[in-house]
Amino acid sequence: FLSRAVPEFDSKGEVIQWIGSSIDINELKTLQSQKDTFLGIASHELKTPLTSIKIYAQVLERALKKAGDPKSATYAKKMDEQVNKLNSLIGDLLDVTKISAGKMQINEDMFDFKQLVDEVIEEQQLSCTHTIINNSEPVGMVFADRNRIAQVVTNLLSNAIKYSPGAEKVLVYTKVSSQGIQFCVQDFGIGMPEDKQHKVFDQYYRVSGDEQHTFPGLGLGLFIASQIIQRSGGKIWVRSVLGKGSTFCFSLPAIK
Ligand code: ADP
Repeated sequence: FLSRAVPEFDSKGEVIQWIGSSIDINELKTLQSQKDTFLGIASHELKTPLTSIKIYAQVLERALKKAGDPKSATYAKKMDEQVNKLNSLIGDLLDVTKISAGKMQINEDMFDFKQLVDEVIEEQQLSCTHTIINNSEPVGMVFADRNRIAQVVTNLLSNAIKYSPGAEKVLVYTKVSSQGIQFCVQDFGIGMPEDKQHKVFDQYYRVSGDEQHTFPGLGLGLFIASQIIQRSGGKIWVRSVLGKGSTFCFSLPAIK
């Protein structure tokens, strides 16, 4: 049982009585697991129609281009981009249910780290107006889940772009350090206060402030990223100055 007591005060501010309540923890756990099951099923069901919409949007874009209607083709492309965003949100919800149930799969293999970073940057550059400056050094091979690490790099890079709307560039670098290989993304955006920085890797946490209404999100990306990096034997951290920008980094063990 989880018990707590709250005081009741009289008009002079004196405590007149304490009101206690107890909650059955097993009941809470059942509710939590029901919520996770629901989220898992709902996310899965939402993915299926989205896959069809994506295919139709792409076919439509090609057909409109062929028919010489570039303006409508652009709308079809925008539809496709929005479907990608929805897919990524749903993917995050699915990941959270997997993490909660201890069922997030990690399929490790050897891969060239810089090559992965170059690929993610190339893909992100297609859909953003910032210039992504790639200062990555070749750091050799790592042993981890390539798709999952690509997910982390994509998340850090898209956050850097999302939270620096007025900036022109984002810097990316990789290097070999004493901790293994290191990856960092630096932006020149809104930054965040020092006392909030350690919380950004918590589930559903978003730094509060008026600007938050401008930036869509569920507060899950960094939580998932930190789980992936921890499971891969690495570390993830942030340095940030409010109003100046942020640098998000992670390390992974190097292959000896
Ligand atoms: P989301 O972006 O969906 O809210 P994340 O888990 O990716 O979720 O990030 C959590 C919070 O951390 C964000 O809501 C934002 O407040 C803060 N944050 C993340 N990246 C940055 C960044 N590059 N600059 C400033 N704030 C950031």
